Amino acid sequence: MGGDDPGITGEEPGDRAVVVRYGEIFLKSEPVRRQFIGRLTRNLYHALDAAGVSVRITTPRGRVIIWGRDTTLIAGIAAEVFGVVDAAPCLVTSHQIDAIKSAAVVLTAPLLGPGTSFAVRARRETTEGPSSQDLAATLGSYIQATYPGCRVDLTRPEVVVTVESRKTGVLVSVDKVKGPGGLPLGTQGGLLALLSAGIDSPVASWMMMRRGCRMTHLFIDGGRFAGTGVMDGALENHRRLSAWCRGVPLHIVVVSGVPFYEAAERSRSTRLTCVLCKRFMVRVASVLLPHTGAAALVTGESLGQVASQTLGNIRVISMATTVPVLRPLIGTDKREIVDLARSIGTFRHGKGDEGPQTLCCHAVPRYPATDAKVHEVEAAEARSGIDAVIAATLRSVLVVTAQDGVVLFSSTVPVSALLSHLACLSEREGFTQVLSPDKEAR
Ligand code: ATP
Ligand code: MG
Repeated sequence: MGGDDPGITGEEPGDRAVVVRYGEIFLKSEPVRRQFIGRLTRNLYHALDAAGVSVRITTPRGRVIIWGRDTTLIAGIAAEVFGVVDAAPCLVTSHQIDAIKSAAVVLTAPLLGPGTSFAVRARRETTEGPSSQDLAATLGSYIQATYPGCRVDLTRPEVVVTVESRKTGVLVSVDKVKGPGGLPLGTQGGLLALLSAGIDSPVASWMMMRRGCRMTHLFIDGGRFAGTGVMDGALENHRRLSAWCRGVPLHIVVVSGVPFYEAAERSRSTRLTCVLCKRFMVRVASVLLPHTGAAALVTGESLGQVASQTLGNIRVISMATTVPVLRPLIGTDKREIVDLARSIGTFRHGKGDEGPQTLCCHAVPRYPATDAKVHEVEAAEARSGIDAVIAATLRSVLVVTAQDGVVLFSSTVPVSALLSHLACLSEREGFTQVLSPDKEAR
């Protein structure tokens, strides 16, 4: 990692680089901004290092610049790092106008021809040399003369040539790869996300990772009460999400929900089963929360999506815990969730409530309650001996670790040893700060 590659000299004309733009970090105070940029830089190093790409990163005002050879590959990897708004592969030239012109012509050669529209957008860090407008105009005329038939369109150009004149050189680019935006992972502390085999919860987890939260996942295995392939589906979601925090291990804690479903089968509270089930999940998660270093829970609930997600039932579910439950999808439509799942790579056909019967929970009653009453729910829990059920569930847990889209290993540990186990696994993978949720929270 870093600038040991003798071929990479740093901010020198003739180099190639990727200019990374970030978004909300701009709004932070100077010290916080510096801290967030530091985290973004470390995350970029982690991601590129995990892909075996050697780079050097500099952070001039307002930008992160990644110096390396394969700028297309580097921009693609950088565009999957949270906090990155876009990443543009650039040629770096001297301040000589002829050098800037030839870089622009080299980059636009495959893109411009008769009828193609383009615009030059120039900005400069220093007051020396031609103004941004003069630079844009000179370059525009030169490009037009080089590729007869192409035309300037400043409002809706097909090709945008970006020129950034900085103290140490000029960065010229024509392409930008859109990033996920958000805040750098690790700037907002830890969360425990309830992850199922479905479509919604992976999107919810991704959304909170995008807001800078380190994630641990929790899957409740329904065993014979769940449909076939549910555990595999949840692990697949987990594996896919690990590609979004490259270079950092992502853990999923798996516990057996069978004691709960057996108790539910024995009870006469059928209509309440879904609300009882979600309250059970939230309680189990709340017990595990301090053992994972998380500050709050995350679920993929969306208002009104199914019977357990009516406003009344969500209220009753929330009352099962004192821990904050974050529901990033609460106001989104299924279609929006599916679109996002496709774009982040977690969508698979036939999953959860979108799919065929195979993934459906066998404990769901025919007529689930849509407005469960707290006293009824609490009475049903007392009858089923919920505390003993939770104790049985948490006797030991399975931890499955994935990194960079690959499941690495799994181990069974008692809950009391979970925190140190996770810290140890993370250290082993060279990412030591996974379990310090509050220090960096802003
Ligand atoms: P998803 O909502 O993820 O598509 P689903 O539709 O199968 O899965 P819902 O009944 O909508 O599940 O559950 C609401 C939320 O409860 C999920 O988004 C998820 O956060 C959590 N959840 C559901 N099942 C499980 C499970 N087996 N283990 C952990 N969390 C779960
Ligand atoms: Mg759902």
